[in-house]
Amino acid sequence: MWLKRYLALGPGRPMWALLADALLAINVPAYENNTPQDIRKNCYLQSWTTSTHTRSSQPTDLLRMIKAGQKYGLRIEGLAFERTILRDMPIWHHIFADSRIRRLTGSNTSKCLRSKHNLQTVGEAEDLAAPLIIISGRQSRHRPNNQCNCRDCTEIRETTTCDHPHLCMVRAQELLDTLPPKWDPRVEQPEDVETDPTSISKTREEEIFDYRLTTTGDLSDIFRIFTNKSHTPVNDTYVRRIQTDSNETLINVATDGSCIDNGQDNALAGAGIYFAEGDPRNKSLRLPKMAGETQLTQSNQTAELLAVKVTPELLPKTTPL
Ligand SMILES: [Zn+2]
Ligand SMILES: [Zn+2]
Ligand SMILES: [Zn+2]
Repeated sequence: MWLKRYLALGPGRPMWALLADALLAINVPAYENNTPQDIRKNCYLQSWTTSTHTRSSQPTDLLRMIKAGQKYGLRIEGLAFERTILRDMPIWHHIFADSRIRRLTGSNTSKCLRSKHNLQTVGEAEDLAAPLIIISGRQSRHRPNNQCNCRDCTEIRETTTCDHPHLCMVRAQELLDTLPPKWDPRVEQPEDVETDPTSISKTREEEIFDYRLTTTGDLSDIFRIFTNKSHTPVNDTYVRRIQTDSNETLINVATDGSCIDNGQDNALAGAGIYFAEGDPRNKSLRLPKMAGETQLTQSNQTAELLAVKVTPELLPKTTPL
């Protein structure tokens, strides 16, 4: 419970959580001493570690909180995240960045970014590096040197007293380049092609299948507990272009699952798929006992899932359901 509230990273974060941030950032193992203290914001979003040793100076309450997270498999998990979430992540020691990012932190240019520009998030790095992007057909006003007098460089000089804006833009870009595609707001993300399927009108009995992969909300919505420790989530992006043929009409399929002796050892589960009366695609299914190496629980719920899994497999991929 403490952990959940500690990771409530949106607005209205409790005051004690800010204190916890500070304590976790101070109490680090010796090997983190060369991680500058000003970049240690959150050890769940960044790759530095806090002390977990009982003999360390870490307060007991915080130790307990961290151990609870470790015990129950707390981590960031999701197939894709909204761009606002990607941009809110801290850039320094970003937890999913290539380890190169750790070496970039200590250079003079990075020190300028940290102190003069007060650069903290991925979004801020993206904005700073934006003038470097040459959009085809439109000449950028920025000139690739530190004497450039474009609007962006002038503004940087005035607001930050940095005298080498171009160098700092390039460094911001280098930092972003250490991010895998899934965490890089500059690349195409599933949200760019996902449309809201719940906007389709439906009757009371129907459920529209929500195919979207993107986790929305804020940084507190990206954490999962009870994750599978033997499985490491991948950092690739899954941008699926689903082109619905406008001639195709929405198909209604009724599905249901049931189980005899539900909750007992000898339980047997099955499912039904119904298109229309006499439709050859109608099916009744028996839930298999095994799926590969995994034993399947015979229950009402697994049977429901089976029906929902098999139904789209019976149809062409683009059929709106
Ligand atoms: Zn500087
Ligand atoms: Zn410029
Ligand atoms: Zn600078």
